[in-house]
Amino acid sequence: MSLHYLAAADRYEHAHFARVGRSGLMLPRISLGLWHNFGDVDPLSTQREILRRAFDCGITHFDLANNYGPPPGSAETNFGRIFSEDFAPYRDELILSTKAGHPMGPGPYGDWGSRKSLISSLDQSLKRMRVDYVDIFYSHRPDPNTPLSETMGALDHAVRSGRALYAGFSKYSPDQTAEAVQILRALGTPCLIHQSSYSIVNRQIENGLTGVLANEGIGAIVFSPLAQGMLTARYLKDIPPDSRAAKEHGFLQTQTVEKNHSRIVALNAIAEGRGQSLAQMAIAWVLRLPEVTSALLGASSVRQLDENLAALKHLEFSDSELTAIDQIAPV
Ligand code: NDP
Repeated sequence: MSLHYLAAADRYEHAHFARVGRSGLMLPRISLGLWHNFGDVDPLSTQREILRRAFDCGITHFDLANNYGPPPGSAETNFGRIFSEDFAPYRDELILSTKAGHPMGPGPYGDWGSRKSLISSLDQSLKRMRVDYVDIFYSHRPDPNTPLSETMGALDHAVRSGRALYAGFSKYSPDQTAEAVQILRALGTPCLIHQSSYSIVNRQIENGLTGVLANEGIGAIVFSPLAQGMLTARYLKDIPPDSRAAKEHGFLQTQTVEKNHSRIVALNAIAEGRGQSLAQMAIAWVLRLPEVTSALLGASSVRQLDENLAALKHLEFSDSELTAIDQIAPV
């Protein structure tokens, strides 16, 4: 890998973008998340390869959070190093996001959604990422003990103070989303985007959230569209030792994989019939909803990223394919 990075000249030639709700911002249909594979436990050279390859293919959006690692904070620190060495000249072409709201630091201010937690966390994130601002700052999860107006006020302040260009929230229910959107709008900082999980085996957002987002003109960026790797060829035969399900800090439980195995095999057969890999079909499937601006993926190698990007070559589904998928994984 060369020491100096020069982005591919044709990086936008085959890239696909979509508008985020009714905003002015476009995001790539596939975005890259740094929750896994970018911590201090992961080789920096692979991290750099994945980020370079992504940007070379027109992935302009990298998604982080204060607690990504492990250890917490290390994904932002590693990203900051690679950003300053490789991507700083391309800052204006990048949409960088971070979040606060999950456990990050000791004491009462290292978690949840108070104004104190959110603003101090964002300041720490900017230092670790070595940037002057992020493009999107998220409340990472709703906080049942902080008034929604305080959390939204902190997002508004993050934008007004120049620390962030846009505000978003993650994992807010349809009702919480509708209320938070009104508060932010009244403050003069509209909500740009909602981040929630969505995949063939997790269709919760179809039960109300997409309707709220469509009404309010807010875009959805959906995380774990591969169900953390379950909707790929990774687990068709067994649980490979280098897979997320086999790792101690992986979050994906081996029991979850085992429970879903017959569905994975059946979905794989439909993907084969479409001439796609299971991963490619799973990505195309989340992108079929008009509310979904971008599929937010993880990748532990450039090979995975390349396979996933090829999903964009075949996004259409026949009615019979959709019906077959519904039968395997109903809403
Ligand atoms: P995915 O569902 O895309 O899972 C990614 C994992 O699947 C990879 O790390 C890899 O795991 C495996 N994989 C990917 N492509 C392939 C392939 N082609 N073949 C085989 N295996 C493959 O998403 P994530 O769960 O990683 O989440 C994506 C992003 O979403 C995060 O990085 C984060 O930015 C965001 N997120 C946000 C949350 C929130 O609360 N707002 C919560 C969770 C995620 P392996 O290690 O096995 O190779």
